[in-house]
Amino acid sequence: MSENQEKSQCPSGKSCESCGGKCHEDKRQVHDNLQGVKHIYLVLSGKGGVGKSTVAANLAMALAMEDKQVGLLDVDFHGPSIPKMLGLEGSPLYGDENEKIMPVPLDNNLKVMSIGFTLRDQDQAVVWRGAMKHGVIKQLLGDVAWGELDALVIDTPPGTGDEPLSVCQLLPRADGAVVVTTPQQVSATDVSKSLNFCSQLSFPVLGIVENMSGFVCPHCGEVTQIFSSGAGEALAKQYGVPFLGRLPIDPQICAGGDAGEPFVQRYANSATAKAFQEIVAKLQQK
Ligand code: ADP
Repeated sequence: MSENQEKSQCPSGKSCESCGGKCHEDKRQVHDNLQGVKHIYLVLSGKGGVGKSTVAANLAMALAMEDKQVGLLDVDFHGPSIPKMLGLEGSPLYGDENEKIMPVPLDNNLKVMSIGFTLRDQDQAVVWRGAMKHGVIKQLLGDVAWGELDALVIDTPPGTGDEPLSVCQLLPRADGAVVVTTPQQVSATDVSKSLNFCSQLSFPVLGIVENMSGFVCPHCGEVTQIFSSGAGEALAKQYGVPFLGRLPIDPQICAGGDAGEPFVQRYANSATAKAFQEIVAKLQQK
């Protein structure tokens, strides 16, 4: 491995010499912990507010509805919204006999772990220092007792900074990343950064989801392009990665999130849920 490659692989940001090889030990622990997990999907976005957690929660639920054993891990430090989206706010955490953290079961098929479960008060402002964040990410990847899973969906912190970097570096393997964007140009520019980030880390991109792509009028069904459209698909072409599909702005998506039940389950027969199921089907073909 060249010195530069090693630097980009070592979470210390320098080289394995300076971290004393601890990064290898951490990776081994994560590797051992995730041995029972068949597929690992990361959900990424260039910035917050584009629907990353919505896609992560609905992806996990859609897979669970196919009778798969699924884990959902929310590592979003600054907005852990998964507990609210799944109606699990305030769930207590327990340890197992091996002192690993038990994920919170939602139903027979879906287990959830979120940084949000560790906060006493959801409105609490937590000042996370860089080194602390890496330690917490390592613990969430290496110390949660997932058991046997068909798929683990990870709601990764937004952007291309230290937090998503730690997640990618600590994971021994992953099927790849689902990158969420909205159709505006600004958001698309941020997503280019996410794609470059994956490419620099040699992390596979499973595809792009364009969220908030047009508003479907609930009365007449006419589609209004509130933002310009097509940036996600154009970027997919430009970077040679799959385009997984679009989701419209749909009040049911918001309502599902607020009610603690993902729209893919709550409004399972809606056109938006069908569009999402197609995205999930494409993803599983990859
Ligand atoms: P992120 O994880 O990227 O910060 P979220 O998934 O938390 O974004 O979404 C932000 C807000 O936007 C949430 O209230 C969510 O319910 C809402 N939302 C996301 N996608 C849509 C959509 N397609 N239509 C309507 N509301 C949406």
